[in-house]
Amino acid sequence: MKSSSLPDPIRRTLDWVHERNHSEPIFIQAVEEVLHSLGPVLDAFPQVEDNGILERICEPERQLIFHIVWQDDEGRVRVNRGFRIKFNSALGPYKGGLRFHPTVNLGVIKFLGFEQIFKNSLTGLSIGGAKGGSDFDPKGKSDGEVMRFCQAFMTELYRHIGPSEDVPAGDIGVGGREIGYLFGQYKRLTRRYDLGVITGKDTAWGGSLVRREATGFGAVYFLEEMLKQRGEDLQDKVAIVSGSGNVALYAIRKLMDLGARVVACSDSGGVVHEPGGLDWEQLREVKEIERGRLQTYAERRPKARFKEGDPGTIWSLPCDVALPCATQNELNGEQAAELLENGCIAVSEGANMPSTPEAVELFLERGILFGPGKAANAGGVAVSALEMQQNAAWASWTFAEVDRKLKETMADIHGTCRHYADKYSRDGNYVDGANIGGFLRVAQAMISHGLL
Ligand code: NDP
Repeated sequence: MKSSSLPDPIRRTLDWVHERNHSEPIFIQAVEEVLHSLGPVLDAFPQVEDNGILERICEPERQLIFHIVWQDDEGRVRVNRGFRIKFNSALGPYKGGLRFHPTVNLGVIKFLGFEQIFKNSLTGLSIGGAKGGSDFDPKGKSDGEVMRFCQAFMTELYRHIGPSEDVPAGDIGVGGREIGYLFGQYKRLTRRYDLGVITGKDTAWGGSLVRREATGFGAVYFLEEMLKQRGEDLQDKVAIVSGSGNVALYAIRKLMDLGARVVACSDSGGVVHEPGGLDWEQLREVKEIERGRLQTYAERRPKARFKEGDPGTIWSLPCDVALPCATQNELNGEQAAELLENGCIAVSEGANMPSTPEAVELFLERGILFGPGKAANAGGVAVSALEMQQNAAWASWTFAEVDRKLKETMADIHGTCRHYADKYSRDGNYVDGANIGGFLRVAQAMISHGLL
């Protein structure tokens, strides 16, 4: 939507957000994407404007920035920067992952925290929105270095989190190993075994079954729901999935379980293409167990080809369905056009904001099925909330039980998106549906709590 055709309160809020955050273009992109959907809501709910909800929801409730000092294996002192952005607590304790990656900065964490508000709201559960992380790069570091870094990170963070205050989890660069070290240090500093203070824990000590699989499985369940609307399913569909980390790996697993042939995935070093279909067990062996590179997978598979360089070349491969599961803005307008030319009928975002605004506009214009990240990848945080419920009850549920709840949650989120799209936008516009559905629940809670 052109900014001149936006309702006044939205245009004013966007100007205000631009002015205060001009050095954070990625955060502004995330705010624009949500606010552009909210025009019809302002007429139906005048209380939103009366209570200043638009401005209040765009300003984090609390922002922490701290330094992390640790020692590498050579004894050199290293300094990194840490963040925790507590964005919105209207629906429950702050909840959102930690990202360890060299590209992390304040703008990136604010964009992720902002997205998290609406995603968490869409799950229907009692969780607020937050995000955190550091510019530390775990790649190439020894286990000892990762442990010392995690301990130093938690030495600052522990005073700001708690099971009913703020509950971090993993994200890029933060998996089971890092969660273990972070929890260990929290336990040491507080002398409390508060399982509910962090999610994504190992199942041997308080983690939930299906948490590891949840984001990838959930993105595929959402895709299945979208396909159902057109009388389609995943049987014999050709799929491509970008990334090869936690989300990508389990999206690939579920796509295969449902009959699709997954022919390509990527990492930051390039793309592996295997027209007969990837071998999931070997992929998992290289990526999850050995923590290796995709090139190694390709070297072990006679029919796989590894193209080194720009991982974005994955989008030029023909497919029926595509799942961007790597990182933000990894799929641009030109690449979206290529995907459409090659016959892609559905895109489900496993990553956060992987498609640029130009790509999203093209998908919507052409009317393909497009599931935005805040809806399609909400399965991860939904199972994190189930992990918190199990921890609070000192219980552990079976794989089948958690998987069934995840599937139901994804179907409910899909239903919510359709309902709000149909009511305030147009049928099948999951972007507007997710933004409006996510926003209204948070706005109503904020109004109930008064001016805070
Ligand atoms: P991981 O760290 O496990 O994996 C990230 C993967 O993406 C790696 O394979 C990495 O390759 C690859 N990658 C990074 N940049 C690029 C790029 N430009 N092109 C292609 N591949 C790239 O992270 P996750 O799988 O956990 O997270 C992936 C996305 O999903 C993120 O956007 C995250 O915010 C989102 N997400 C994650 C959730 C979770 O539960 N983990 C929940 C909801 C959303 P390399 O190893 O070379 O860096």
